[in-house]
Amino acid sequence: MAFDVKEYAQALDKFIIQMDKIPDLINPDTQAAMDSLCRVLRIAKVEADFYENLGYEEEKWGGSVVFYHNGESDPARSIVRKEWTGEGNLIKYAISPILGEPDWEEIEQEKIQVFLKALLTFNGRIRMQQVVERLRFRDQELGMYNMAWFMKSVNQIIADGEIGKYAACQFNIRYFSAVNQQIGRKRSSRVLGKFIRQFQELFSGKELVCRVGGDTFIALFLKVNLDRVMDYLKGRGIVYDEKEGKRVWVATYAGYYMIPRSCNSAVNIVECLGIAMNMARNVRKTEFAFFDAGLMQGIRMGKMIEANLPEALRKEEFHVYYQPKIELKNYNLVGAEALCRWFQDGKVVAPGEFIPVLEKSRLICMLDFYMLEHVCRDIRRWLDEGKGAVKVSVNLSRVHMGDMDLLDKILAIVDKYRVPHEYIEIELTETGTDVGFEHLKSLVSGLRSQGISASVDDFGTGYSSMNLIRELPWNVLKIDKSFLPGKADSDRQKRVMFRHLVALAQDMDIECIVEGVESVEQIKLLKESNCFLAQGFYFDRPLAVADFEAKLLESRG
Ligand code: C2E
Ligand code: MG
Ligand code: MG
Repeated sequence: MAFDVKEYAQALDKFIIQMDKIPDLINPDTQAAMDSLCRVLRIAKVEADFYENLGYEEEKWGGSVVFYHNGESDPARSIVRKEWTGEGNLIKYAISPILGEPDWEEIEQEKIQVFLKALLTFNGRIRMQQVVERLRFRDQELGMYNMAWFMKSVNQIIADGEIGKYAACQFNIRYFSAVNQQIGRKRSSRVLGKFIRQFQELFSGKELVCRVGGDTFIALFLKVNLDRVMDYLKGRGIVYDEKEGKRVWVATYAGYYMIPRSCNSAVNIVECLGIAMNMARNVRKTEFAFFDAGLMQGIRMGKMIEANLPEALRKEEFHVYYQPKIELKNYNLVGAEALCRWFQDGKVVAPGEFIPVLEKSRLICMLDFYMLEHVCRDIRRWLDEGKGAVKVSVNLSRVHMGDMDLLDKILAIVDKYRVPHEYIEIELTETGTDVGFEHLKSLVSGLRSQGISASVDDFGTGYSSMNLIRELPWNVLKIDKSFLPGKADSDRQKRVMFRHLVALAQDMDIECIVEGVESVEQIKLLKESNCFLAQGFYFDRPLAVADFEAKLLESRG
């Protein structure tokens, strides 16, 4: 049968168009196109052998794929073409004629070479795609999968309807910089690699570990393996010096998420993991935390508060409440603390709910200045209306520390309302950082030089230390309620500490006030300890401005 050039041209065209569309020789459509082409060219078999290197070819160690096979072939007369791939692998294509048929004519041989060339071109393209995939889905440093791969794999598991069987975790190596310092950078990256490889050994099937970046990783595993994963990530010794068997302890902060069946997006999983890990690492400072709906609720609330703050300030939804400070010798009202209340859609939101949120985004500074301004406005009015005024303390968040213009900003507000400085007190807490401490020091001195009082709030909790009262010229020490013994005679230690704390403040010429006074017994203790200033529910809760004004008038009467 004579070679039909037209039929050949059409078949080759079809094959190339198909391969262009789907570069996959196993695809049924490609197979059909190859079938026509092989028939015109009287081909019985198309196959490819793959070897990792040349030596392997001699040993015949490699893989082999048959792309086309139709009837008996004659391998002795096949046309072979070898090519090196970019990674040093050898690929060998062999095209064999039909057994018992006459040799290929010259024109047929020419066209078979064209066919081979097309195969090799497509082969190169597929290889290229693999390289791109590897770059896209693999982390180059540790050679492990990356986030893109995590997203792709998880989306596939979701599509297969199997996600409900899985849990996920995101973890960060604890104190990795300390490990770095201890054993050097090179050895610590090897330790990291080892820690992860051993972790991966717990995994099988579709379970996977990917690198998010730096020393943060993400893993997906079957819920039944949760205990093993948690046990591993709690920490273990990793050998960094094989000769001497020296080990370093590697542990993690981890956030876990038990993925519900209804989960329909990988992005959502990653979000929940980030929240849980942050909870473990930055908030609770524990080795792990599980994501739950409560966490999410908190975050939504936070976002809502942040988004609504400017509008709420504009609409004056924040009200100043005044909690009286009482002189215990004659039970006179001698001062007040300004405390913030948010009236939102008829409900009152307590500061405990929104202040921590605002502190995260520095929005708290806006609120503090708003409070100071409203307090100054009220004092001005009381003075103008002849009601008389008392000193009012305003809380300033530690977030202000670092604002070098803070003192000027405070003075600008106070002076705008022409409030005599002795009516203002600023309550501050310690920051816990050196820079913060230095700034706090200059702020307290600055306030004092301007005749504005400065008080240490919540003394005895958190960071507050003896240095704080030794080095800064405070006017007032506010002893936290946690120092107050609850019932008469209970907790001797607290009573002793309390007495000495008051004595210390007095010897240093610092005024002393106790907050959170709730009972007669506590008042007795205060008096016995020579502390004659108190603030607490026993006398008054924080009061709305009208109620406080009534008290103010009453006390003057
Ligand atoms: P703080 O400055 O230590 O204020 C004292 C808190 O103790 C107030 O809570 C007050 O209502 C409460 N308290 C007073 N007497 C008693 C008592 O006898 N028993 C008990 N159990 N509690 C008592 P509040 O108003 O909920 O404020 C909580 C915290 O929120 C304040 O603690 C302060 O740190 C912060 N805060 C309130 N308003 C502002 C503000 O305008 N700016 C800033 N930065 N923080 C504020
Ligand atoms: Mg306070
Ligand atoms: Mg306090």
